[in-house]
Amino acid sequence: MAFSSLHIHCKLVACAHACRYCSMGKKTLSALEPERLHALLARFLEWEAQGGLRIGYVVNYTDNFDRRTLELLHDLARRFPRTYEPLRRMSLGGQPLRTDQELKTWLAERRAFGCISAHGSLAGTGPVHDHWNGQKGNFDLILRTLRMAGEMGFALGARLFVARSTLTTLKDLNDLLDTLPMHPGNWRYAMPFFYAGWAAQLEEERIDEAVRDSLPDWLLALMGACISTGEGCRSEREWIELLRMAPDTPERGLVLNVNAQNIAMLEQKCFEEIVSDLAVRTQAAYAAIPSAAELCERYGDRSGTKVYGLARCLEMKWLDRHLADHPMPFERALTHLTLS
Ligand code: SF4
Repeated sequence: MAFSSLHIHCKLVACAHACRYCSMGKKTLSALEPERLHALLARFLEWEAQGGLRIGYVVNYTDNFDRRTLELLHDLARRFPRTYEPLRRMSLGGQPLRTDQELKTWLAERRAFGCISAHGSLAGTGPVHDHWNGQKGNFDLILRTLRMAGEMGFALGARLFVARSTLTTLKDLNDLLDTLPMHPGNWRYAMPFFYAGWAAQLEEERIDEAVRDSLPDWLLALMGACISTGEGCRSEREWIELLRMAPDTPERGLVLNVNAQNIAMLEQKCFEEIVSDLAVRTQAAYAAIPSAAELCERYGDRSGTKVYGLARCLEMKWLDRHLADHPMPFERALTHLTLS
């Protein structure tokens, strides 16, 4: 297994509400000072610039950064520009309720720190969405934020969750989204809940081929435009056909989860040691579980008609079945079989 990239994750900021479909499931904050994380990220990014591994970094759970964190992340964005960095595109998930005036101030601050687009995930409209997102008023908040952000020149993104309980609301939702300001960078797509985190327990909400194939053309087009996969939303048996043609050894990146427990060690060790240790642990994690082809062979349902947005969702489902049969500890967070 060769690794050409390193993805650094840090759970710095708590969500203001708990979505029932959250693909990250149970949450543990990193409990770090942003200054310490900034110094560590800067070291890694300097190493990349000197020929080290390609570095990506994500600071979540939510984008609700305080002023100090904004300044530190902006410093990194300025010194080490890249297409994907936390301040450029803002997710509206996990935000606290805000008045229009508070929203205006907040968006203006984010724009001053380099944000060019805002995107939200919508599980239906009104009370249906609020139920799924665990916050009364969340639907109104996201729509107001998108509208105001669009009026201020931000590009807008929207992901519509297609589930049995959201189906009847999706036409109204799409019509409402059509009333938002149009910009060249706007995007919209629709997909089922991921199979990950809490949503792994929501299989009864998953539509099947019969429901998918009876959806109106506009919604099918949004499902086909699912930018996460580029391949649309397929049923288990359709994904299995596609996976047969996938390469046996896809390229994997290393994942480094930074938290209060490991930061002192990361500050002291040289990059080669960190990467070599991570590579050994990652290889051990993959060696502990069957390959994707084996999981598919043992647990794949060749007549399964439920629809998934990512092939990876099925790999995670098959792995869960394997672990239910053969419980064992392994570092799943280092593999691609978790969403974070
Ligand atoms: S889905 Fe996003 S906003 Fe909702 S609880 Fe999970 S991380 Fe937070």
